[in-house]
Amino acid sequence: MKDRLARLGIKDINSGISTVLYHWNGQGELIDSFSPTNDSRIASVNLGSADDFEKILSIAQSAFLEWRTVPAPKRGEIVRQMGDSFRVHKEDLGHLVSYEMGKSLQEGLGEVQEIIDICDFAVGLSRQLYGLTMHSERPQHRMYEQWHPLGIVGIISAFNFPVAVWSWNAMLAWVCGDVCVWKPSEKAPLSAIACQNIIAKVLKDNNVSEGVSSLIVGDRNIGELMSKDARVALVSATGSTRMGKAVAQNVAARLGKSLLELGGNNAIIVTENADLKLAVPAIVFGAVGTAGQRCTSTRRLIVHNSLKDRLVESLVSAYGQMKIGDPLNKENHIGPLIDEAAVEMYLNAITSALNNGGELKYGGNLLTNLGKCYVEPTIIEVKEQIEVVCNETFAPILYVMAYETLEEAITLQNAVPQGLSSAIFTNNMQESEWFLSNAGSDCGIANVNIGTSGAEIGGAFGGEKETGGGRESGSDAWKAYMRRQTNTINYGKSLPLAQGIKFDF
Ligand code: NAD
Repeated sequence: MKDRLARLGIKDINSGISTVLYHWNGQGELIDSFSPTNDSRIASVNLGSADDFEKILSIAQSAFLEWRTVPAPKRGEIVRQMGDSFRVHKEDLGHLVSYEMGKSLQEGLGEVQEIIDICDFAVGLSRQLYGLTMHSERPQHRMYEQWHPLGIVGIISAFNFPVAVWSWNAMLAWVCGDVCVWKPSEKAPLSAIACQNIIAKVLKDNNVSEGVSSLIVGDRNIGELMSKDARVALVSATGSTRMGKAVAQNVAARLGKSLLELGGNNAIIVTENADLKLAVPAIVFGAVGTAGQRCTSTRRLIVHNSLKDRLVESLVSAYGQMKIGDPLNKENHIGPLIDEAAVEMYLNAITSALNNGGELKYGGNLLTNLGKCYVEPTIIEVKEQIEVVCNETFAPILYVMAYETLEEAITLQNAVPQGLSSAIFTNNMQESEWFLSNAGSDCGIANVNIGTSGAEIGGAFGGEKETGGGRESGSDAWKAYMRRQTNTINYGKSLPLAQGIKFDF
């Protein structure tokens, strides 16, 4: 790992690492980055201070004045080079993500692939930032709209996707002409520093101002500064609903823009017309992948009464075959939780479910022989949607509920505060269409015969209700990173007023 870190520009791994921009260091306290894979300290990192934040913002502000004037396809060319650089560093960065966050190596590499993919997407987008042309009601007038850069985009990211979610924001923001200030999760600072090093080199090679991409390693205090600062035109925040509510209030108080990607509580409905050969692997991957630490993890299974016992039996058998251990070992399917606080939440949720009528079908134990953060994936059957089922516990716990009518199933699926991802398994067209209709799933993502977990970068990603309502990544999500301007041009020799108003003088 030491060699990989060195190739990513992280050299001094035994003392404080203090890379923030090319040439100056974070001034705040030292924090440790731990690997949950083996409970070891990887390195210590200086947090950015309020003074650092101030310096970064003024560098970003002046960088914006230049960057916004670079033609969008030229900005796309720089992003293309960034994508190439991530291709070169994919193995090293994928290993670091896996080691620092604890997700499987395949998933760590998958995160870097997402960065590469969104770079490609953004390059194409840089030539497609289209506005509409409208017919004016006045003669010899032309009306159209165009999209301009917003300014500074503040990106607050969560630990579970320490790099991919940043790239969904940053690559789009850059082709849109914005500059970015990134505050990564304090639980995965090294992965962020590695990305910043890769970006910084591309910017330097192209003689582009460093302030186009700034990183400030900080805790929630820096997140709060960012939310309250009117110079940050858009705050794109990914994390818990608790965090999102705080950010939303701070940004709204100054009438700024926010894009919120918050917690999920995702369900799969399995009807009596489902193909279980498809449903079982989708449920298992969705519930145990990344040790249940994806915003799109499957947390609730709503299954038709007639199938419930058979399906639970198949799941218990599949869970028994899962290999848990060091995520860097490709043989293992499930790695650790992020830290001991997450283990505590896992245990508390299980206790609460069992105290409120839940029946344990699988798991529930810590795997202390592997380390402090390894837990068994767990299945609990519940009779109704009790309180703990309505909360997002960021751990591999699957709650199973039975239903009789599809209406009942959809009502259960929608009866939680979150609205991110959802899925139905059925071969019945009426059932799937109902689920996708305006009377169906209330989530931002609704799938048929594929699970809740994971998403392709081409679609707009995000969810409703307490998930925050933001959309990132594909489709027309780029519009959140720009401001729309409507323009009317009079090429005639008179000044007809709108609505036919006459104003004689
Ligand atoms: P978290 O809310 O604890 O922290 C997320 C980020 O917010 C961190 O960078 C943190 O420092 C910062 N932060 C915390 N409080 C803040 C405040 N008051 N003001 C400003 N910034 C603040 O979340 P986490 O534990 O890192 O990540 C897990 C959560 O993220 C889960 O709820 C998960 O569902 C969610 N998530 C959502 C998506 C999505 O796209 N919807 C993607 C990934 C993760």
